[in-house]
Amino acid sequence: MTNKGSLQAGNNLDPWYHHYAERAAGLKASEVRALFAVASRPEVVSLAGGMPFVAALPHDLVTNAMSKVMSEQGATALQYGSGQGIPALREQILDVMALEGIRANADDVVVTTGSQHALELVSKLFLNPGDVVLSEGPSYVTAMVIFRSYQADVDHVPMDEDGMIPEALREHIARLKAGGRTIKFLYTIPSFHNPAGVTLSWARRLEILEICRSNNILVLEDNPYGLLYFDRPAPDAMRSIEREGVVYLGTFSKTLAPGFRVGWALAPHAIREKLVLANEAAVLSPSSFSQLVISEYLSTADWKGQINTFRDVYHERKNAMLAALQEYLPELTWTNPNGGFYVWVTLPDRLDSKGMLPRAVKELVAYTPGTAFFADGAGRQNMRLSFCYPTPENIRVGIRRLATVIRGELDL
Ligand code: PMP
Repeated sequence: MTNKGSLQAGNNLDPWYHHYAERAAGLKASEVRALFAVASRPEVVSLAGGMPFVAALPHDLVTNAMSKVMSEQGATALQYGSGQGIPALREQILDVMALEGIRANADDVVVTTGSQHALELVSKLFLNPGDVVLSEGPSYVTAMVIFRSYQADVDHVPMDEDGMIPEALREHIARLKAGGRTIKFLYTIPSFHNPAGVTLSWARRLEILEICRSNNILVLEDNPYGLLYFDRPAPDAMRSIEREGVVYLGTFSKTLAPGFRVGWALAPHAIREKLVLANEAAVLSPSSFSQLVISEYLSTADWKGQINTFRDVYHERKNAMLAALQEYLPELTWTNPNGGFYVWVTLPDRLDSKGMLPRAVKELVAYTPGTAFFADGAGRQNMRLSFCYPTPENIRVGIRRLATVIRGELDL
């Protein structure tokens, strides 16, 4: 089947170009995507992606859990399951969340296909075209892709080293309300932010929740990195303070492995009911196999010890990155994350991180330009460096190469 009319009418090579829904307009490959394909060559040190270092998870732990599941519950593992997720796993998820101060009921947990899918479902439930989502500036790229695909606008609230600035949040809400805009929720990554690397202080957690409560704004707390702290734990989750106004998202992607594609949402009861229906409509049920393997792993393996192993690996890599930045690029400024995967770097005025990327890839180092993390074109002077995947030695090599690129751009 072809659609010659459109093919001839436009210079776009996609014959279905004029058939897409408006919401698909935002689904464009980014300009840096092609470069990242090059950056995946082994000789390039990639400080760009956010891939967890799954080699730090002994694979036999997963193999053992899989074999046990298949020998004891094979028929269930291979079958469709509940749209809300397996009850035993939902109970265990409560133990994971308890580590960040959350007390909840397993009935309010919905298992999703990664927390990414929970973001999609919450957006589907709440966003109409023209609605506003408040988020930190910068914010998680692929959440913004979802918000925009529901034709919502992202309004960035500035942050500093203690996370989102409450006073700025108040101003943004007042301005948006005065302009007649509908704010649907505040999307926030309070602990070890992606990409900024900073953590919202306890006092600000309280203040931001109070601002949202008094303005009737739902909080969408996305917390994939909270347990991956280095020197001291992050403050307890925002959901530990407020239950009716917060939808909390968690995931096993960083504390276990992303290949399972298992995350969850913890939501106030009415929202939870709708989330289950939306989950069923989208995927019928999350993977029974993945859920049972994770459930078995959580009951038999030392999962807290494994999280400590991940923390140690990432801590060492963060130290390697900051030491290399200090040695090779002392003229830049960067955040010092106490957990998670990312350092946010600010370049001297004259530099443009996106414009510089081709040169960096030529020098065999890749990073993500700051503009990727803003909906409004800001971030040219920033870059996100990930320390999660390369070894400490490669991180050093990567930063040394980056210094060559930056010196070249500055003509030093
Ligand atoms: N939120 C944030 C802030 C993330 O960084 C990621 C993964 N990069 C996700 C959500 C999605 O993770 P997953 O779907 O693997 O749970």
